[in-house]
Amino acid sequence: MRTDSADVVIVGSGMGGGTLAWGLARRGIKVLVVERGDYLPREPQNWSPTEVFKNRRYKPDEKWLDEGGGEFRPGVHYLVGGNTKVYGASLPRLRECDFAEIKYPTGISRAWPFPYADIEPYYSQAESLYRVHGATGEDPTEPWRSQQFPYPALSHEPYIQEVIDRLGRQGVHPSSTAMGVDLQPGGACIRCGTCDGFPCRVGAKSDSETCALGPALAGGFVRLLTNTRIDHLETGGTDQVVRLVGECAGEPIWITGGAYVLAAGAANTAALLLRSRDDRWPNGVGNSNDLVGRNYMMHNNTHLAAIDPRRRNDVVFQKTFAINDFYFDMGDGYPGGSIQLIGKVQGSMMKTHATRAPLPLLNEFSKRSLELLVMAEDLPSPQNRVSVTQSGQIAVRWKRTNYDRHELLLTETKRLLRQIGYVGIFEQRFTIDMNSHMCGTAVGGTDPAQSVVDGLGRSHEVANLFVADAAFFPSSGAQNPALTIAALALRMAAEVEWG
Ligand SMILES: Cc1cc2nc3c(=O)[nH]c(=O)nc-3n(C[C@H](O)[C@H](O)[C@H](O)COP(=O)(O)OP(=O)(O)OC[C@H]3O[C@@H](n4cnc5c(N)ncnc54)[C@H](O)[C@@H]3O)c2cc1C
Repeated sequence: MRTDSADVVIVGSGMGGGTLAWGLARRGIKVLVVERGDYLPREPQNWSPTEVFKNRRYKPDEKWLDEGGGEFRPGVHYLVGGNTKVYGASLPRLRECDFAEIKYPTGISRAWPFPYADIEPYYSQAESLYRVHGATGEDPTEPWRSQQFPYPALSHEPYIQEVIDRLGRQGVHPSSTAMGVDLQPGGACIRCGTCDGFPCRVGAKSDSETCALGPALAGGFVRLLTNTRIDHLETGGTDQVVRLVGECAGEPIWITGGAYVLAAGAANTAALLLRSRDDRWPNGVGNSNDLVGRNYMMHNNTHLAAIDPRRRNDVVFQKTFAINDFYFDMGDGYPGGSIQLIGKVQGSMMKTHATRAPLPLLNEFSKRSLELLVMAEDLPSPQNRVSVTQSGQIAVRWKRTNYDRHELLLTETKRLLRQIGYVGIFEQRFTIDMNSHMCGTAVGGTDPAQSVVDGLGRSHEVANLFVADAAFFPSSGAQNPALTIAALALRMAAEVEWG
């Protein structure tokens, strides 16, 4: 039996875990990060669409169950750096109103346990840590900020600038995407076409390994155990976690610590708690109110590919603007969501979904297409939940919420695109396996009857247990989640009184 220990033990090295390790190291706290995956190798396959999307080279060979018991392969990455190793590095803040309750026609987006002002300084810190490029004064919904973006916005390539001009004439306000890349004099970014969804072969993407965990490891206070999967937590029947139990490269391991922080991603964090049952905690540790795993959200997302056969889209780095004009109000008093460009999609990437279309046709199509993501909020619902089967397998029940708003936003987006010359629009609606933005399975709140952890992420019931990943989100907003996860982790590092 192998053993290890530290003052603070963090499970998971993704956006939450990696960032927290960095924040704790700055306070001189001894940290052990436990990661089930390994370092992602830098290799030619990093930029191969076939390897990344068709052969799923960097995804685990793991299957989860849907509500009907059918198996699906989730959109997770078990790597040092977690999902951020392949993410699109779009790092916007939530809007100020996202932290308050929002009423939708068919439900409610829950308030967070603190206002925007409480997390604002940590957003600034996270933007600095993750080298965020952006601009102010362009987006009608941008929240106030105490510090400017650390880097200027990425420039738009000519084709994209023309799209922006056309959209502007339709009365909307495209604004620069907040992007985390090392694009600066002497920086590693080469502004290539393989950023969104691919690992970065030149180390220029602001992922949590590159920006947070790596520097934290170099400082000496943080250690990392790779290939170490935690199976469950043990309390010995008490109100404290006494150890983590798992497997390190095939060998059983026990890990002890002063505090235990779960940052295994929304589904795995819930699964860890639910697998940790004993006489004191028959529903799982810290789960007397049966809320662990509930309120699973993953955004209502649709990819659009819009084609204008008359214009060749020769863009390399496409993901440079978003449209938030419909974020607060679709014109009927209720919010819509965000519309954003995604990385340029190649024909071979389209082939993973348009399986029957010939590749040469898709290649020609992609030379004239523009790709976008349309994102509306998925509302918290106790019926949407992560659970674990007797054998420990993850099961997800997820029914779309608030989809009428997503439909309206899709219709509006297509209308705009047609008005600026796109004659064909193809859509791919996200399904349960496209859960890259999952959140909300151990929600933060002030009321112990309605939430799993408090406003700083500490379990209401187990004082040495914390959650520092997307599981904390009481509501999802309609912006990409990673910067908020990082800001939450930095706030936890700074404001918790660590033993
Ligand atoms: C293709 C793609 C594109 C994306 N693009 C964007 C984007 O542009 N902007 C944005 O904001 N977000 C984006 N996201 C989402 C973003 O990456 C996630 O929201 C974020 O990484 C979640 O952070 P987390 O800490 O909750 O989990 P993760 O970052 O997934 O980290 C969880 C970590 O825990 C480890 N782990 C899990 N279980 C265990 C266990 N039992 N024992 C030990 N370790 C364990 C995992 O291996 C992983 O390293 C994207 C995601 C994907 C997949």
